[in-house]
Amino acid sequence: MFHLNLLSPVQLLRDSLFDEKGVQVYLKRDDQIHPYVQGNKWRKLKYNLLEARLRQQNTILTFGGPYSNHIYATAAAARMFRFRSIGIIRGEEPAVKNPTLKFAASQGMELYFMDRATYRQMHDTACIEILRQQLGNFYFVPEGGTNWYAIKGVSEIISEINFEFNYIVTPVGTGGTLAGIVAGLNGKCFAIGFSSLKGEDTLTDKVNALLLEYRGETFPNFSINFNYHFDGYAKTSSALIEFIHQFKAKHNVILEPVYTGKMMYGLYDLIQNDYFGRGDVIIAIHTGGLQGLCGFANHFPGWPFSSF
Ligand SMILES: *Cc1c(COP(=O)(O)O)cnc(C)c1O
Repeated sequence: MFHLNLLSPVQLLRDSLFDEKGVQVYLKRDDQIHPYVQGNKWRKLKYNLLEARLRQQNTILTFGGPYSNHIYATAAAARMFRFRSIGIIRGEEPAVKNPTLKFAASQGMELYFMDRATYRQMHDTACIEILRQQLGNFYFVPEGGTNWYAIKGVSEIISEINFEFNYIVTPVGTGGTLAGIVAGLNGKCFAIGFSSLKGEDTLTDKVNALLLEYRGETFPNFSINFNYHFDGYAKTSSALIEFIHQFKAKHNVILEPVYTGKMMYGLYDLIQNDYFGRGDVIIAIHTGGLQGLCGFANHFPGWPFSSF
């Protein structure tokens, strides 16, 4: 068995705005878990890899987009723990691999490209069986890594925080990370998820469904905020980029514009608008994702940070 005891530090953020409003904000640095296998993607993979071992599977197969943090982390973790890995990538094979795919291939991940229409149908069990016939047996991890084992892994964040707080905030994509946090809170405190996607009215239902599956109950102590998605998943704005620059200058912490930047922008805005009360203690999860900055730099010339 391999060693699975990685903790991430908690950092107090100092800001005159927080002093003025009487709140304390801490950053849980899951981006520092590991340079390649970082953030919520590691938390979500951890028990999946253990389960794969227990089932004596030596191949991990998963799905993701061409810039996916999940593909990147899975490729690195699979190599680290000596699994064969297969990535089914959404879209046509590019003439030149982007940095995420280049990295995944360098970790030994076998990449198969699938047109978007086929990819969309690939999530049901019949399709997984077809892949199994073609590629051999494997342990299946869904897109984004969200499943029962992911919720279990993410829920451990809560037990790593050994002081009192009343709010915890996280970015939201599939909702797996938020579900894990709410499961870990076990009815205490309040969790706020900041959605990176717009118009995902079903996200709350999805989180509830994950909680039902994992815990056999849902919880009322969370909400999802849709006001800071900046128009959708890979969209951004000059206000967001400017905010990420300022945050780096002030705290020496790098955020990315898809998830953590939007969450932190939203958190600052809520604090500014007196959403929180004096004395509130807020934990923000830095869910990682910094590898994506490489690809981001290709898309947005002038983007200042490449990864690490
Ligand atoms: C994938 C990802 C998320 C979204 O997590 P979900 O569990 O899908 O909601 C948030 N932040 C980062 C950095 C990610 O890579």
